[in-house]
Amino acid sequence: EGAGTVHVTNPATGAKGKAYQAHTLDQAFAAAARAQAAQQQWRRTSFGDRAAVLRKTAELLRARAGDYAALMTEEMGKTVTDGRAEIEKCAFHCDWFAANAERILADEPVDLDGAGEAFVTFNPLGIVLAVMPWNFPFWQVIRFAAPALMAGNGALLKHASNVPGCALAIEQLLHDAGVPKDLFRTLLLPGKQIARLIEDKHIAAVTLTGSVAAGKSVAAAAGGVLKKCVLELGGSDAYLVLDDADPAAAAKVAAAARMVNGGQSCIAGKRFIVVQSLKERFERALVEAMQGYVMGDPGDENTKLGPMQSADARDDIHEQVEKSIANGAKLLLGGKKPDRPGAWYPATVLTDVASGQPAHDEEVFGPVAAIIVAEDEADAIRIANDSEFGLGSGVLTGDMGRGRRIARDELDAGMSFVNENVRSDPRMPFGGVKHSGYGRECAGYGIREFVNVKTVLLK
Ligand code: NAP
Repeated sequence: EGAGTVHVTNPATGAKGKAYQAHTLDQAFAAAARAQAAQQQWRRTSFGDRAAVLRKTAELLRARAGDYAALMTEEMGKTVTDGRAEIEKCAFHCDWFAANAERILADEPVDLDGAGEAFVTFNPLGIVLAVMPWNFPFWQVIRFAAPALMAGNGALLKHASNVPGCALAIEQLLHDAGVPKDLFRTLLLPGKQIARLIEDKHIAAVTLTGSVAAGKSVAAAAGGVLKKCVLELGGSDAYLVLDDADPAAAAKVAAAARMVNGGQSCIAGKRFIVVQSLKERFERALVEAMQGYVMGDPGDENTKLGPMQSADARDDIHEQVEKSIANGAKLLLGGKKPDRPGAWYPATVLTDVASGQPAHDEEVFGPVAAIIVAEDEADAIRIANDSEFGLGSGVLTGDMGRGRRIARDELDAGMSFVNENVRSDPRMPFGGVKHSGYGRECAGYGIREFVNVKTVLLK
């Protein structure tokens, strides 16, 4: 099959950028075969050798942070400050897995009461196909790749079509750091060709970070050939704002949670469920906190809100806002499409958000905070869990015991943070339940997703 061209558009200006030649499926199949051959060598390298490669990756990331941040700004509009922070996070992640993978994947003895020697060992699975999104172009890839490489796996990267420059830069970065060329390759392919690649016998497993629709399609393809898959999908994270919370402090956490990456994050806080008695005070405080996110040039290091990733995505967000208002939500801030080229959308606050409105029922992937009123704590928990998603969640409260109980026992989500916005960290497992996907990334749980947990017995 012939390959097309991938065009980049600068979201801040709408100007057309570079064009890249896409790969063909035949090239992808050939890359998969070469990757598997390279992995046969890589799996026999020591943890020490692999750790040295990851430490070098971290060093190069830090040295090139400015260039990589600028590339993200150009392709998907990330502010340069967020871009630099993202690159530092990638470097920290590489260093952490370099330091900890050997300990996590050490053989585990099994006590058979003298009936022989047994232990559990962790062999790599092979080549993992990674389908990744544009919102954190470096972090999403490195989050997966660092533990996968430390475990002895190889990978093929199919990145989102709007960040081809980032996809190729990551490939170059890993090669420069000493990852064998064939072991990690970037393929510029459209999403619709991925099912064919999943079937290829050189691919052992798949990981996808993206939308529910893409997750269903990849899971179906992987299921059809019985290949392991990990899915990190969407979220509509709820934060409970309880009656004993300090409204200003709660609003600060809420705004920070909502405005991560211009609101374009799976674990951005999207629904703020406030108990009736605190409603007006929280509304005022949240509007004030959200006003701090003023739209500006993403290349300026003081900018806290850049453009959305594309004008189409911005139009979808605006439609969700307008439909919510038409169905009873009240606009407290923003909500107007700026009259200028580029994918701009302002910080927006809606209140009286309720069932039947997109801001309540769907994931809004932009700078739009939805306030939902609950009668009391039990009602707030019910509303939080009444979602197709279950990625992150939060509790904002002045009572730590209460926060701990609700976070631990009540919220149906893969992560629950008290008085802090949810964020990923190599030391803590990351993932969701329900339509937010299955499997985990980061920490020991993440690195063990793509290994063969092998039992060995000697008698
Ligand atoms: P998307 O359309 O699902 O794109 C994500 C990736 O999947 C891209 O590489 C895309 O390729 C590919 N893709 C799309 N349809 C596919 C298909 N049918 N088969 C195979 N691959 C396919 O995601 P998005 O809407 O741009 O990104 C935002 C979504 O990702 C949100 O829902 C967000 O919550 C979620 N997300 C989740 C996490 C997490 O860790 N849980 C993190 C970040 C984002 P093309 O670009 O070529 O279409």
